[in-house]
Amino acid sequence: MTALRALSAAAAVWPLLAQDYSTLRRNMVRDQIERRGVRNPAVLDAMRTVPRHLFVPKGLQNAAYDDSPLPIGFDQTISQPYIVGAMTQMLEVTPRDRVLEIGTGSGYQAAILSRLAKEVYSIELVPQLARSSAALLRDLGFLNVTVKQGDGYLGWPEKAPFDRIILTAAPPEIPPALIEQLGRGGRLVAPEGVSYQELVIIRKDASGVVRRETSFAVRFVPMVPGSK
Ligand code: SAH
Repeated sequence: MTALRALSAAAAVWPLLAQDYSTLRRNMVRDQIERRGVRNPAVLDAMRTVPRHLFVPKGLQNAAYDDSPLPIGFDQTISQPYIVGAMTQMLEVTPRDRVLEIGTGSGYQAAILSRLAKEVYSIELVPQLARSSAALLRDLGFLNVTVKQGDGYLGWPEKAPFDRIILTAAPPEIPPALIEQLGRGGRLVAPEGVSYQELVIIRKDASGVVRRETSFAVRFVPMVPGSK
């Protein structure tokens, strides 16, 4: 009895075979993402190929393709797959784009963007997460991603302007520096708000006029003021 219990406990944390993960990944895209209306073929393709289980803690790999966010340490989470798919589709990334991400976390969203964009710049506040995601992205060959440790409220002025900007932590209001660093014809997608959050899409047209619209309600970790 105890042996059996020990065995089933072991099975829960035992990693699956690579082919099992790819089956789980295909099912995730079909059932959680396509079925809920994400149709952009490039986004779906990226989500079918990026090995999400390598971006979650080892003991949670078997849950990597579940329909939920997962903890990645330091009180942070990797977003639910559907949210990654929906936000990436809203961002309308093209292969010419230079993209800024705020909140690298596990590096998973950056890896998805890496497949769609020319270059990805990603800022992470927590030094350990910045280091580990940079190393993982490099080891897995996502070579067009540059991660730096820093405060996302400031953006990355040396690399601006950006064609696309995505925030994966929620500020009370979209930081003005980020709107400034958005290029003309650019687009920013972010969760915004404190107790109630919703996804915001900001567009800057060819003459620099900024327009804002909102989409559905979400729950993200807060974007922490970095320069305290
Ligand atoms: N995109 C990530 C999601 C990470 S959760 C992924 O795919 O895994 C949000 C991340 O934003 C956390 O890692 C958190 O540390 C980071 N964060 C919070 N406030 C920040 C700030 N001011 N600047 C940069 N990163 C921040």
